[in-house]
Amino acid sequence: MELNVYNTLSRKKEKFEPLNPPFVGMYVCGPTVYGHGHLGHGRAAVNFDIIFRFLKASGYKVRYIRNVTDVGHLENDADSGDDKIAKRARLEQLEPMEVAQNYLNSYRDDMRSLNVLPPSIEPLATGHITEQIGLINKIIDQGFAYESQGSVYFDVEKYSKSGDYGKLSGRIIEDMLSNTRNLDGQGEKRGALDFALWKKASSEHIMKWESPWGEGFPGWHIECSAMSQKYLGERFDIHGGGLDLMFPHHECEIAQSKVGNGQDPAKYWLHNNMVTVNGQKMGKSLGNFIILKDIFSGNHSLLEKGYSPMTVRFFILQAQYRSTIDFSNDALKASNKAYNRIMNGLMALKTLIYSSENVTLSQEAIKIVNDACDGCYDGMNDDFNTAVTISHLFNLLKKINTYQINPQLVGELDEISFNRLKSVYLLFVEEILGLVNENPADKEILINAILELYSDFKLNKQYEKVDQVRAWFKSQKLVIKDMKSGIGWSYEE
Ligand code: ZN
Repeated sequence: MELNVYNTLSRKKEKFEPLNPPFVGMYVCGPTVYGHGHLGHGRAAVNFDIIFRFLKASGYKVRYIRNVTDVGHLENDADSGDDKIAKRARLEQLEPMEVAQNYLNSYRDDMRSLNVLPPSIEPLATGHITEQIGLINKIIDQGFAYESQGSVYFDVEKYSKSGDYGKLSGRIIEDMLSNTRNLDGQGEKRGALDFALWKKASSEHIMKWESPWGEGFPGWHIECSAMSQKYLGERFDIHGGGLDLMFPHHECEIAQSKVGNGQDPAKYWLHNNMVTVNGQKMGKSLGNFIILKDIFSGNHSLLEKGYSPMTVRFFILQAQYRSTIDFSNDALKASNKAYNRIMNGLMALKTLIYSSENVTLSQEAIKIVNDACDGCYDGMNDDFNTAVTISHLFNLLKKINTYQINPQLVGELDEISFNRLKSVYLLFVEEILGLVNENPADKEILINAILELYSDFKLNKQYEKVDQVRAWFKSQKLVIKDMKSGIGWSYEE
């Protein structure tokens, strides 16, 4: 089985061949920390977490860098206006670094809840000012950037003569120019499409640093070029981020690295698609911007109740990363049900034991199990298609549930297929999809103890007590299961 990934740069699926196997360098644009993480942040982090996990499970040694933007991201992603963090600092009457730290802590909490693995390195833009100034100097030396009134701009028109500007996003420079040419007031820029590498800071600006061009702060795009190069080298394997970052952010990153280092920074460009809300793009301006913490607590007008982080993770994983997903209360409700089914499968799996008695091999059952196991791998190898992998996990789950109710049926499998069923289900649910049981283990010990009481009450015909226990199970969203193999329980699906 080989891994194929869709490369935004070539607009097709390509066989994944790292530059320097078994090592893989992966850089993903992280959050701008000026507010709590929203569902879009959650989706990007979970989607690239899956890629990180699957590459590791496939034997690669992955260095995964996810940066933190704590300076230089101006409003509306433009070259003018307020710095997003400085503006929030004024509103909250805090130091800008305090704002960045608060929201970085909040983001990390959300990521832990969503069981997103921490990246190998999480560099901050403010910690890499020297590297950014160094790269800007290289671009100026090459003649592709110029200083203007204390700011430095990248000369897009000059660079575009190489034919490379727009190659990632598919935009055509002439179209972009004709759209902007009539707008007046470009001020200090030579060309309308030029973007800031360094911005002069006004005297009241708090976040500023010394530079060869006076006091100022870096532009947003330069941090990713400087930090990816520092930790992964001038050319590395994967550059990722949300589809909304493809232009201008990633297009500008390519331009900066190409001029500064003479080569494209990344071999494969991967972009995750957006979350929509009732079919509309999620965004602050539309008023449908959904904070992760509000989904967990249920504090949102579109939600009937709170949904747990694992439910949200499952919701994200149901779609392949390049498809859109539509947010709604019903979609989360369905995800919660499906997530509980997967967890019940994990519990059931632990009780299954292969016995060499009762063996009556069924070639059909053996084929179903092995096809589903292969399907789990095939899904992920086909551009990390978690939707396909999950559908095969449900095929395995059907078998697991059958064997839990009737343990003798395990004998329809040979021992190798039985062990494969167990190991593949565990590997994909826990390690690759990162879905873990949110309920603490001590709660399960308690439930088991109460279930034993229930059996005793039933045996002794103490029906009033039996009803009380049943009511308790219902209140805890648990189901009592009467099976051939005895009494058990599961989470309500
Ligand atoms: Zn970036």
